[in-house]
Amino acid sequence: MSELKRLSESRDLTRIERIGAHSHIRGLGLDSSLEARDASEGMVGQLPARRAAGLILQLIRQGKIAGRAVLLAGQPGTGKTALAMGIAKSLGAETPFASVAASELFSLDLSKTEALTQAFRRAIGVRIKEEAEIIEGEVVEISIDRPLSAASGSSGAPSGAAAAGKTGRLTLKTTDMETVYELGGKMIEALGKEKVQSGDVIALDKASGKVTKLGRSIGRSRDYDAVGAHTKFVKCPEGELQKRKEVVHCVTLHEIDVINSRTQGFLALFTGDTGEIRAEVREQIDTKVAEWREEGKAEIVPGVLFIDEVHMLDIECFSFLNRALENDMAPILVIATNRGITTIRGTNYRSPHGIPSDFLDRLLIITTQPYTEDEIRKILDIRCEEEDVDMSADAKVLLTKIGTETSLRYAIHLITSAALACQKRKGKVVEMEDISRVYQLFLDVKRSTQYLMEYQSQYMFSEVQGEADGDD
Ligand code: ATP
Repeated sequence: MSELKRLSESRDLTRIERIGAHSHIRGLGLDSSLEARDASEGMVGQLPARRAAGLILQLIRQGKIAGRAVLLAGQPGTGKTALAMGIAKSLGAETPFASVAASELFSLDLSKTEALTQAFRRAIGVRIKEEAEIIEGEVVEISIDRPLSAASGSSGAPSGAAAAGKTGRLTLKTTDMETVYELGGKMIEALGKEKVQSGDVIALDKASGKVTKLGRSIGRSRDYDAVGAHTKFVKCPEGELQKRKEVVHCVTLHEIDVINSRTQGFLALFTGDTGEIRAEVREQIDTKVAEWREEGKAEIVPGVLFIDEVHMLDIECFSFLNRALENDMAPILVIATNRGITTIRGTNYRSPHGIPSDFLDRLLIITTQPYTEDEIRKILDIRCEEEDVDMSADAKVLLTKIGTETSLRYAIHLITSAALACQKRKGKVVEMEDISRVYQLFLDVKRSTQYLMEYQSQYMFSEVQGEADGDD
């Protein structure tokens, strides 16, 4: 457990200050009726796709999507990954989001099914509720919040608290854990009989259940001074006493696997060198987690597994996915591709997006459309803000033009490099000259292809082709 705690703490640290390609996406930007707002939560345009993603989100929240998956299909740079990110963000910070490119699965170190299993388990969260230890002899304070009656309000509750809907607080101090457990109910009883007032600090005699008033708690710091580090003011629903502090750790199944499978423990998560995890280890962990779930100590949080370039998966991977989606802990699978009709890897058959028809049948398909000039301008605006880059209006117009003629992604890349060029000339605001400079320094795909066509004879191996031609 302590390793899990360290892990969740260190993850909180690494979350800070990272600007990634999609760090500006904070959700899907939908209103309460799931209509997409024009530009919201970092998302711009792509309205029908965002609306569809919103419906998926609702299905996920209602738990109606088990065993299904979503396909995002569209041209490169039309926001498929951004949409997947938006879904993940809308599900809440604790919902794990794992992302892999299909080509990563074909590494030399791991079998494809092992790599896919790891990806699946990275997308399954476990919320572990741990009861914090309260040491015997420590002063423990428990508070119960109850609606204030007019009577208790008039006799000592904080001023104005007697108003309807306000709550009062009764506090018990004890050094004896048994007292905490057993006499909590009596506190409520005592409060009911109005022996004590809301806000009183009381001592309860365990044997007789006699209540002794120690003083008042609300608003007086001296009453809190005596209370040790283990104290927590626990808010309870009326009539219910929460006995202990609860600490919640959120980890993924994959993280639990790694901690339990290697001698170096959780450090392997940082090096990424997790290696193959034995099936027995996973079985043991699944059994343990199932036990925790039954005891109410843990719950499963199905996250989102995003597989990009899904056309790169082969027929074996697709049949693995078919089976994995049947598992009741399965995450929501979101896959994306920018291919049309193409060959299914590992076969001679062609199919839409290179996906076998039995798997296609499981999918909810969302398509993305190319952006208008106005949408590109808005996205670039958001990215400038995200990267903390001040850019003049003229420079933005030029960058938008470049974005429409090349690609959105190329234009986004130019923001950082133009900011560096600006810094180099000791400027504060990125101007047109910085944009043109980096536009000349870095080629976009179209110019790069053109360049290669012109100068291909000077590149390596083209001479082999030339010689062969000569031999003919
Ligand atoms: P590919 O097919 O090449 O993988 P893609 O469709 O996944 O491309 P993204 O990577 O999502 O495209 O988009 C490229 C960049 O544009 C990213 O930085 C992304 O966050 C941003 N972006 C795309 N669409 C939007 C949008 N609708 N709102 C805000 N930002 C967007």
